[in-house]
Amino acid sequence: MAVQGGGPPVIGVDLGGTKIMAGVVADDNQVLGRGKRNTPAKEGGPAILKTILECVDEALDRAGLGRGDVAAAGVGSPGPLDVDAGVILYSANLSVKNYPIGPELSAALGVPVRVNNDVRVGGYGEYVLGAGRGYGDVIAAFVGTGIGGCLIQNGRIVTGATNNAGEIGHIVVKAGGARCGCGSKGCMEAFASKTAIANRLVKASKKRSCPLGEKILRKGRLKSGDLAQAVREKDPIAVREVERAAFYLGVGLGGLVNVFGPQIVVIGGGVALALGQPFLDLIAESARQQIITDPGKVIKFALASLGDDAGVLGASLFAREMLARG
Ligand SMILES: [Zn+2]
Repeated sequence: MAVQGGGPPVIGVDLGGTKIMAGVVADDNQVLGRGKRNTPAKEGGPAILKTILECVDEALDRAGLGRGDVAAAGVGSPGPLDVDAGVILYSANLSVKNYPIGPELSAALGVPVRVNNDVRVGGYGEYVLGAGRGYGDVIAAFVGTGIGGCLIQNGRIVTGATNNAGEIGHIVVKAGGARCGCGSKGCMEAFASKTAIANRLVKASKKRSCPLGEKILRKGRLKSGDLAQAVREKDPIAVREVERAAFYLGVGLGGLVNVFGPQIVVIGGGVALALGQPFLDLIAESARQQIITDPGKVIKFALASLGDDAGVLGASLFAREMLARG
């Protein structure tokens, strides 16, 4: 599906609950300029649009270009979305309901805009340009504030009958387990997301000394870098919680591998990238205890390789494909 060669730059926007990033991306997929702002997550749709435009203008400025030099834009957004209409139907993380981010951004920039699910965009970026490059069957999982994912089979994103398939984070890994943000219980996200890890650390800090838990209470959030540092310093509670998260990620991903039989499982997101190879190894070890479909152990587990650029690049690919379809 990737489009080869030719044409003016496009914009890719990674709209996250914490940060907004925009990039100007050339037809050879080089990022020519980037812009980044904190997400005004409590102020509603118009404030988010304004901040996206600031990021876009900053990225264009750094690329030495103007709004008239780009041909299209893509946005990766939390959802659920109406992809065809470019509308964010609902996002608790963005305080947005029924906001037509695609049409609004299109009117502001004067170019067509394609909006798609954020993790699907990131997963597609990794599939075409990152760790999944060269493979046709890929499972991508992103471990951050929540857990998102993207399944690619025969080079196509699995979207399902409702266009919402791929919600890896909401596979139940322990029946009747921890309550998840989705309303269900025992989802992978409720055990292994940054939110879940932070909640457990805070709880632990009420029973015994846990400097990281206390820091989360002070700052109101857990930074992936702080978690990684605590693990490096062998903070026993942090180590235990990271091992627990990796175990449940392995349970969920191992089951998925049995069903889909990918060539590679790509794991990204802020938590996974901060914790790095040791975390990946723990996940793979747990997953391999589930996997019965790979006796030769040929299925690979790899860290995502595009880092912060996965969303921007994936969104730019969707924008370019929209143009190619005409
Ligand atoms: Zn859930």
